[in-house]
Amino acid sequence: MTDSAYIGRFAPTPSGYLHFGSLVAALASYLDARHAGGQWLLRMEDLDPPREMPGAQAAILRTLEDYGFEWDGQVLYQSQRLAAYAAVVEQLLERGLAYACTCSRKQLEGHAGRYPGTCRAAGHALQGTAIRLRVPDCTYHFTDRVQGMFSQALQEAGDFIIRRRDGLFAYQLAVVVDDAWQGVTDVVRGADLLDSTPRQLYLQQLLGLPQPRYLHVPLIIQPDGQKLGKRYRSPPLPAQQAAPLLLRALRALGQQPPGALHDAMPHEVMRWAITHWQAARIPRCASLAEAQLP
Ligand code: GLU
Ligand code: ZN
Repeated sequence: MTDSAYIGRFAPTPSGYLHFGSLVAALASYLDARHAGGQWLLRMEDLDPPREMPGAQAAILRTLEDYGFEWDGQVLYQSQRLAAYAAVVEQLLERGLAYACTCSRKQLEGHAGRYPGTCRAAGHALQGTAIRLRVPDCTYHFTDRVQGMFSQALQEAGDFIIRRRDGLFAYQLAVVVDDAWQGVTDVVRGADLLDSTPRQLYLQQLLGLPQPRYLHVPLIIQPDGQKLGKRYRSPPLPAQQAAPLLLRALRALGQQPPGALHDAMPHEVMRWAITHWQAARIPRCASLAEAQLP
């Protein structure tokens, strides 16, 4: 199958090294794109300098190279796209779809993570305030290629931040602007972002942008129920372990690499995996045992 219209991407945040869970997501997006004869783009989501870990950007690129990933074109850095995000925020404000919010973290406590709409009609001036997008009272549905039908009322999270008080742009805004700008047709990423997708669909609709297809790969759950890589600060994935860890990631994705690949080089594992990729085999959930982590 070839589909040169396919454009996929991997979009790491340099707040830490790649961990096994991010390797699984990167691999799924890479194989899905390459199997379809499509492009695979790399985007560094370096929107939040205070949360960035020094050295993480270089380490992420290095790990991807060591593991046999080959991306098309130059890496896109979100830190160089601020003017584009600012223009979109401006447009949303002008259309009355967004507003300034002066609430402190303390004021927002006790609403179970849902913004209560305090500043909706306040008409605050924009200086030094957060900017929130007004969300309508409606439910968004989409069909994920692995997780199936997903629906969510936008009001569950309430009006959400698109630009923070400190002037930094929010992930939700930047991801939508850049997926469209890069022509991404297929978003393949971790299931931790499943419940961000309805907000992204809403933004796409407001901005008149095309909706990509979505595939959310299962998170790797540890025996204690923790999501991998979130609580524990993971060390970098070791270059010498590239082939065995790729094989484990493939198994976590429901693929069945032959035993003969055990002593292969990363590029050989990748070559096999591109040819034999079957997205339909990806399980909705994966346990640590399936991934056979050390
Ligand atoms: N930068 C996000 C992360 O590392 C992923 C964004 C996305 O794939 O939409 O969790
Ligand atoms: Zn407010």
